Amino acid sequence: MNNSFDNRSTSICSKKDIKSMTFDELVCEFKKFEIKKYRADQVFSWLSKGVGAFNEMANLPLEMRESFESKYKIISAKIFKRFVSADGTVKFLITLPDGNKIESVLMKYKYGYSVCLSTQIGCKMGCKFCASSSTKFIRNLSPSEIIAQLEIISKSENEKVSNITLMGVGEPFDNYENVIKFIKIVIAQNGMAIGARRISISTCGIINGIKKFADEKLGATLSVSLHASDDHTRNAIMPINRKFNLYKLIDSCRYYMHMTNRRISFEYILLDNINDSENDAKQLANLILGLSAHVNLIPANNIEGSYYFASPIKRIELFARTLIKFGVNVTVRRTLGNDINASCGQLRRIAVQ
Ligand code: SAH
Repeated sequence: MNNSFDNRSTSICSKKDIKSMTFDELVCEFKKFEIKKYRADQVFSWLSKGVGAFNEMANLPLEMRESFESKYKIISAKIFKRFVSADGTVKFLITLPDGNKIESVLMKYKYGYSVCLSTQIGCKMGCKFCASSSTKFIRNLSPSEIIAQLEIISKSENEKVSNITLMGVGEPFDNYENVIKFIKIVIAQNGMAIGARRISISTCGIINGIKKFADEKLGATLSVSLHASDDHTRNAIMPINRKFNLYKLIDSCRYYMHMTNRRISFEYILLDNINDSENDAKQLANLILGLSAHVNLIPANNIEGSYYFASPIKRIELFARTLIKFGVNVTVRRTLGNDINASCGQLRRIAVQ
C-alpha cells in the first residue's frame, strides 16, 4: 500500500510542468513525440482557459489525453484565506501544490480589475522598509505558479482581470527566466492574449535584468523602485544599491528607453526625514533628467517593526510640487487595501491581519 503511494507520488513529481511552457516550447516538446503543431495549439488554448485535467480537452483523442496525463502535470493553486478591505481591495493567501503559501491582491480601478502577483516565496533583496524582506527566502515561483495566482483570483471573484502588476512578494528579475516565460505565456495570442502593455514589472534595480528585459522587446511596462536620489541614502535603505549604484541603474534605464522607446515609471516611497526633503526632490529631478519617465510617489505604508515612517502629507505635497516645477511627470499613488495589509510592501510570505 505504502509502496504504491510512493510510486505514484514519484511519478507525479517527475511529470513535466506543462503550464510553465511557452507555446514555442510546447511545440518543441510535442515534436519530440511526433505530435503535430495544431495539437500544441489546442492544448495551449485549453490550458489558457484554466482547464485542470487532460480528459476535459474534448478535441483530443482519448489515447492522447491518457498519454499526456502520464507525462505532464497541470499546476493549480487553492485559496487558503481571503481578506476584503473597506475599499474593495481583496487580498488572497494562496496555497501552492507543495503546501507553500503566497499572497496576491486584486484591486478595482476605474478601468477594470488589476492583480498584483508574487514572483518568489520570500525575497532576498532586504529593502529596509518592505515587509516582504522580513520573511526568509524559500524559492522561486515557476511560470505556472504565477499563472495559478491569476487564474484562482479571477475564478474566485468571477471577474476578468485586465491588468497585471508583478509587484507582490519577490524580486521579478531575481527569477528572470520564469517571469519572462510567464509574460510570454499570458500575452500569447492563441492563449490568454493579455495586452503586454497591461503588464507591469517592478524591480528594485537589478541592472542586468533591466538590460535583458529591454532586449526581449516584449512591450510590457517597466517600473523601477528608486526610493532615493543619492547613493548614500539608497545604500542605507536598499542593499541592492551597493551592487548596482544609481549611476549604473540610471544608465540601464537609458538603455531600456533606447531599446524600447517606452517610458519608465519610477516608484518613490516617501519616508519621513529620510528621502523626502525639497533638496531630495531637486536631486531626483536632476537624476532622471533627459529620461522619458514618470514618477509615482508612494506614501509609505507602515510596516510593523520597521524604523521607517510615512512622510506627513504636507511634505508629500511639497515634494510633488517641487518635481513638477522641474518638469517631472508626477502622480501620488492612491493607497489601497491598507486595512488588510495588502498595500505595497505589506505583503509577506504568511498573511498577517
Ligand atoms: N521587488 C520588486 C517588486 C516588489 S515591491 C521591487 O522592489 O520593485 C513592490 C513595490 O512596493 C516596490 O515599489 C516597493 O519598493 C514598494 N514598497 C515596499 N515597501 C513599501 C512600503 N512600506 N510602503 C510603500 N511601498 C512599499
